Order: sequence, then C-alpha cells, then structure tokens
Amino acid sequence: MSLIQLDEPRVRERRRPTRSGRTYAIRTFGCQMNVHDSEGIAGLLEADGMKRIAEPENADLVVLNTCCIRENADQKLYGTLGMLKKAKDQRPGMLIAVGGCLAQKDEDIIQERAPWVDVVFGTHNFDRVVSLLDYAEEWGPVMEILEESTEVAVVPVKRDVAHSAWVTIMIGCNNACTFCIVPAVRGGEISRRPGDIVREVESLSADGVVEVTLLGQNVNSYGRDLELNGHKTLFAELLRQVGAVEGIERIRYTSPHPKDFREDVAVAMAETPAVCEQLHLPLQSGSDRILAAMHRGYNAERFLAKVELARRLIPNLALSTDIIVGFPGETEEDFQHTLDVVEQARFDSAFTFIYSPRPGTAAAELVDDFIDKDVVHDRYQRLGELQHSIGLETNRALIGQTVELLIDGPSKKDPERKSGRTRTNKLVHLKTEQPAGSFADARLVEATPYFLLGEPA
Ligand code: SF4
Repeated sequence: MSLIQLDEPRVRERRRPTRSGRTYAIRTFGCQMNVHDSEGIAGLLEADGMKRIAEPENADLVVLNTCCIRENADQKLYGTLGMLKKAKDQRPGMLIAVGGCLAQKDEDIIQERAPWVDVVFGTHNFDRVVSLLDYAEEWGPVMEILEESTEVAVVPVKRDVAHSAWVTIMIGCNNACTFCIVPAVRGGEISRRPGDIVREVESLSADGVVEVTLLGQNVNSYGRDLELNGHKTLFAELLRQVGAVEGIERIRYTSPHPKDFREDVAVAMAETPAVCEQLHLPLQSGSDRILAAMHRGYNAERFLAKVELARRLIPNLALSTDIIVGFPGETEEDFQHTLDVVEQARFDSAFTFIYSPRPGTAAAELVDDFIDKDVVHDRYQRLGELQHSIGLETNRALIGQTVELLIDGPSKKDPERKSGRTRTNKLVHLKTEQPAGSFADARLVEATPYFLLGEPA
C-alpha cells in the first residue's frame, strides 16, 4: 500500500462526475460526528455520479467509516472486512475504503490485517475520498492519514432525512478526559466561522430543512479559538445567530461539557424561540473522586449547580446525560454518589455505559484498578432500574398535555402509527396522516420510560 501525504493546500476539484452508474454502500460505526462525516462522504460520491445501495456485497465501492469510542470497534471492523474479502474475491473490481477514528489510530494495523483494503483515510481528510479512490484505481492501494486538520471540511452532503440536518460547528477537543480517545483521533478544537455556519443553515432552510442540530465534541468551547476583527463569537451568540435564520423552527446541539456550560448559553437558549428546551449534560460519574480521576473538571456539587441554573432559566427543560459505570477504582461508595446525583438531577433519560478500556487512553493503563465484571454488571443494572423509574415518572407527569411534534416518519414499533419528537426530544407514537417533516399537535395519553403515546389534538 502506498502512503501519500498532502504537500500542497487542499483544492477541492470541481469536475464532471467520473463514476456515473457505479454503486456504493456506506457502513457507519459510532457517534453523530461519524454519521455526519458519512453524509459528507455520500455527498462527494454522489457528486461523482455514484448511486447508493443498501447491500455492501453488491456494491462497486464499500466505505466503512469506523469508530474507536465504542467497545469492540476493531472486532466489528475486521469481521466486516472478512465478509467483504469474500465478496471482493468474487468481484475483483470492487473497491473497499476504510476511514474514521479507528483508521486514524490503527493505520498500519489495517494495512497488515486486511491488505485487500484499497483506501485508508483518517478523520482529518474524509473530504479527499474521491481523489484517493482515483489514486487507488490507477496505482493500487493507498493510505493517507493526516496528523491534524487545519480547517473544518465542508462538502456537499447527502442526507437520509429531508427535514432535519446536522451542522458541524467545530471539530476536535482540547480536554483530556482519561477514558476518552477523541482528542487523540480528532485533534484539538477548530471552530468554523460563524458566517459560514449561518450561510449553511440558511441554505438548509431554503432546501426545506426545519430542524438543525449543531455538532461539536465540546460545543461550549465554540469560538474561543477564533477572533474576527477583534471579536469572538462564542456559543451563546452563535445560538442567537442561527436562531434568527428564517424557516428553522427547531435548534438542538450536542454535546456541551458541564464545566463549560455557563449562564450566557442558558439565557440564549431561553431567549431564542427556535432553540429547543433540551439539554444533554454528560455527568459520567457522581463521585468527586472518580470525576477527578476522569479529569472532568467539575465535582458533583458543581454539576448539580449547572442543572439548577439550566432548569431555572429554561422553563420545561428536558435533561439527558451519559454515565459510565465501573471506571477503574470505583468503589460501592463512589457508585452510591452516582445514584445520589441521578436521584437529585432527575434526568429525563440517560445513556449508561459499562467502562471498557480504550487502548491509548490514560485510564486504560489502570489495569490493577479494573473492577470485577459481576460487580460492574450489578451496579449497571441498579443504575438502569433507578433511571427507568425516574424516566417513567417524568413521562407520566406529561400525560394529558398537548405538545407539538415534528413527525419523523412511520413508527418502528407499530406500523399503524407514526413517530415524532417533541421540542424536548421525547419520542411520541401516534396515528396521524401528517407526513414526515410536518408539525402536528398531539395530546399525550400513555407513557413508558422511553416513549409516549399520543392522539391527534
Ligand atoms: S470532553 Fe472529554 S469525553 Fe468529550 S470529547 Fe473531549 S475528551 Fe472526550
């Protein structure tokens, strides 16, 4: 496999499509950032004339956009690559490209373990996918991994959903949470210029998009690295600017960091009608000792103070979180502190994870402190039960209310119903003729911890 490096500024080629009639399939592993990168890769391939199909084994090109945040990412990748090798043996013209976080981290390993891969690219150059495919078709397998980004890549995007869109506002992260591999694979924070973001949102609105989610690894740091004419546009101001775009009815964002969530952002949320009453604030642990070991930069008291601030300033706020159970060295007492914070914060929903080491992170070195699996599973279950009862109670309190839904499409639970989301991001199933992308009022009639049932109001 050749290793090529960029030695000149990136010029995005404008050219006629060269792969018309050929097909591609993309498999995305991981977070929203990866999902959005895949939309960009799809946009570039379609601009080059390709058509998407669902079955990778029948496609002329398969792109695997990898993630190393989730557990067993490499097993999933090499399992999929093994399956694709068989397809490629039958159809030697098939191209296989592997990009994303795992490719960024394990470039040489992919080359060694799967020499039938044609293109390996990283997190900083997915916008080069078409040029790399050209290279591979002419010269053979190629790998291009860049150490860092110099700007946020903006490419034509192919979205699966017409009414809702992700908008990248920044990439990278300057924090150093000891369990997290993101800073190593995504690099330091780089913000996009606010004018570019607003123009993108305006053009999405002109295309019929009514809901945008602003994306960044640490959105509360937005704009700190960017001074234009002596002025820094920070996240609160960006929310107001995006909120002024006509036609955008709902604005969400992910993810903020609790240590950086401040009053100016809560006030901007409350004062900007399009910004939804929804906040995802990752707790990770309720133990001060474990939070310090994670390098999170806050303790339980400060976290709860942020929750109180947000709830005081933003009426009807729904709160979600992430929690890791079984971080190295977590004692029963530490875990009790997590349960205490969950009781007090009363999250609407929580994504709970069992700690698993990510090679290359500081916490992965703490092998002597890893917790017994049975103990961790027991804690995980107890946390799940607590959150289950809080979620149910919170959702039951909504029964009888009339809420505005943005209809997403047919319900996956019940083919006779459609699914929609409230402004607070609650999932509601109801019988309605309203098409995807339209708004409908619903009266909530039944609740579970994870979704509600509604009737047209
Ligand atoms: S804030 Fe922490 S958890 Fe989030 S991306 Fe940065 S290092 Fe990872």
